[in-house]
Amino acid sequence: MLIERLDVNPEFEGVYRGSDAKTGLLAFVAIHSTALGPAVGGCRMKAYLGERAARQDAMRLARAMTYKNAAAGLPLGGGKAVICVDEASAGTPELMRAFGRFVEALNGRYITAEDVGTSPEDMREVASQTTYVAGLQDGPFASGDPSPVTAMGVFECMSVALSARFGAPDFKGKTIAVQGLGHVGMALVRMLHREGAHLIVADVNRGATRLAAAELDARVVPPEEIHKASADVFAPCALGGTVNDQTVHQIAAPVICGAANNQLAVPDMASVLMERGVLYCPDYIVNAGGIVNVAKEILRENSDDWCNARLRAISRRLAEILAIADREHRTPTEVANDMVAEILSSRTQRKTA
Ligand code: NAD
Repeated sequence: MLIERLDVNPEFEGVYRGSDAKTGLLAFVAIHSTALGPAVGGCRMKAYLGERAARQDAMRLARAMTYKNAAAGLPLGGGKAVICVDEASAGTPELMRAFGRFVEALNGRYITAEDVGTSPEDMREVASQTTYVAGLQDGPFASGDPSPVTAMGVFECMSVALSARFGAPDFKGKTIAVQGLGHVGMALVRMLHREGAHLIVADVNRGATRLAAAELDARVVPPEEIHKASADVFAPCALGGTVNDQTVHQIAAPVICGAANNQLAVPDMASVLMERGVLYCPDYIVNAGGIVNVAKEILRENSDDWCNARLRAISRRLAEILAIADREHRTPTEVANDMVAEILSSRTQRKTA
């Protein structure tokens, strides 16, 4: 295993390239910040268009994890790993074990977990080589699938957003358009249905939309139409980049609140949404339930109270952000980012004092 520290961007505490000829591993670990604690973030595995694209993805995602962990009030920093694979060669046990040795060599400055392209089984292989892994399915503090907790956080935040926009937190009679009925989206629509919301849904997986139509009386629309649906809230719960140059002018709902990471294709979209009068709830605030669940395992907290208190804090923080944004005529994204910058700088100052 060859591990090289790359000198690419002083904003990052470390960017590492790990390669292993025997297993074919090529991976990058980006540690953005450990100001609040060890850098935590999942391991993404996919086919990248070259090493530079993979490294940049790891760095972009690591920075976002610093923001998410800080905003969630967790004593954790931000990091991320990516493994470059050909579509066909993804995730052999040998490859995952080699990645585990790469993580182990970083001595706990980075803790990995499941992400897009990796599975609980992959993490079990990683865990055979390092203790710096979370999101496991078994063991005394194993946190399992974070999706139900993420969905709960989104649900609570949506209720805060309804209050901010319509003056009451009630779902009854409201129409929610949900893009993506995967682990989080499906759990979310079930909660919304229980609270009396009308549902409009889209997914490229027909089985998921059929289930939502039959079980929850959801109206199904084509995936390319969901953002245009006439609804009170649009909830992106599929992939990133949903709000882009093309869609931003077509979004019909006055509120966006969903689970997907990186919903804004570029940061400027936040201002365009504000100009259009659309209330955008910053994704990394809204979807922090998953990392709270993972943190429970890392911090060896096994009481539900610990998790519930931090879940409630997510929606309280969103309420505070929306109130400040409204008062100061700023985008919620800008307010959230400033809040995180303040948390990080006060911790860095305390560390150096
Ligand atoms: P998932 O893979 O289980 O579900 C994604 C769903 O989106 C799938 O059903 C897929 O078919 C669908 N989809 C893909 N492309 C689509 C399109 N163009 N239009 C409509 N649907 C489409 O993922 P998940 O775990 O439910 O996560 C959803 C999003 O939330 C992701 O962006 C993820 O990064 C983010 N997130 C998830 C968690 C978590 O705890 N799982 C935590 C934080 C953030």
